Amino acid sequence: EYDIRLEGVTKRFDDVTAVEDVDLTVESGTFLTLLGPSGCGKTTLLRCIDGFETPTEGEVYIKDDLVTRTPPFERDTSMVFQSYALFPHMTVGENVAFGLQMKGIPGEESDDRGGMGGSLKRLIRRENSSVVDERVADMLELVELPDTQDRAIDELSGGQQQRIALARALVTEPTVLLLDEPLGALDLKLRKNMQVELKNLQEDLGITFVYVTHDQEEALTMSDEIAVMNDGEIEQLGTATEIYEEPATEFVAEFIGETNLIRGRYRETDDGAVVEREGREYVVPKTAEARGDVAFAVRPEKVRLGAEADGLDNRFEATIVDEIYKGNLGKFVVELDDGQELTVDMQIRDQGDYHQVGEAVPVGWSALNSVVLTE
Ligand code: ADP
Ligand code: MG
Repeated sequence: EYDIRLEGVTKRFDDVTAVEDVDLTVESGTFLTLLGPSGCGKTTLLRCIDGFETPTEGEVYIKDDLVTRTPPFERDTSMVFQSYALFPHMTVGENVAFGLQMKGIPGEESDDRGGMGGSLKRLIRRENSSVVDERVADMLELVELPDTQDRAIDELSGGQQQRIALARALVTEPTVLLLDEPLGALDLKLRKNMQVELKNLQEDLGITFVYVTHDQEEALTMSDEIAVMNDGEIEQLGTATEIYEEPATEFVAEFIGETNLIRGRYRETDDGAVVEREGREYVVPKTAEARGDVAFAVRPEKVRLGAEADGLDNRFEATIVDEIYKGNLGKFVVELDDGQELTVDMQIRDQGDYHQVGEAVPVGWSALNSVVLTE
């Protein structure tokens, strides 16, 4: 059962293609993150789901409804912005209630889903005000700011304002909550706390979140699924582990975490595959789509130094050329005799794990810990 389905969604602004031919299905109750660098089309894709933008091509479904050309207030979605977009001249309670005015009160609009005009009129009718008050109070409790209805927006901290924006978006009980870099304006400590709270809230509510960020660590922490975007396209869709351990493309391998990329020619052997570079063969996993010139990726923490490299199917003599930090974690740059440099991260457990620049030390990794990238 899905909440969102995008079929071939493309959005062009004059000569800029912001989103290109995106297919995406989001199962109900998923925390999905759109992750990618600034300008890759995250906000535009989110706006196509919400209805603030109409795709140039392709279709958008929410549940089983085709909504490609349905205006935002008639969709079962709600949006939280980085800028909060609260009204400073209205109280907290009025701001949260405005969420209902935007979309109409679910369960009360059966006569027509007539959008803002009709909803506003209904809201103004006295008999509805208690329903609204109750709903607003519930939402303020949900975001852990109970009894703040009468407070002024500018009395609240940035973190509290973001909670109010969240309450305003959730007050309509949307099927899908869309969040566009909602924690971007908060300082690091508060952002970390809010990441955990948002994830817990999503699990408690059981609704679908589509969360936009350019911060890979945030994406890895919060998401059930991550769609890595580049240049208007989804390069890979997967769990945090899949994206990290099995990046599909060079872009994904380099954007998520740190990685070593080695380029060469892919060749299958009797019992597996190798990548040849400068007369040296690196053992790699056999990969169906790989042929010719490829790159393969090895994470720095998968490379072993010294005695730990013994017996691994990739083991080479190397020289330490840099040590970046020490403490309980060591980061070293080593150079193989063909000039290939590798970054190595390791736990420093005892004195013997320290290495000096200029020291000769074997390096190694298991082929299973490398990934051949075909794009
Ligand atoms: P992101 O949210 O990932 O930073 P955006 O979706 O905001 O990316 O933008 C994707 C591309 O589309 C960018 O090149 C941006 O300049 C362009 N773009 C976005 N909105 C508009 C618009 N309304 N008019 C023209 N170009 C736009
Ligand atoms: Mg954006």
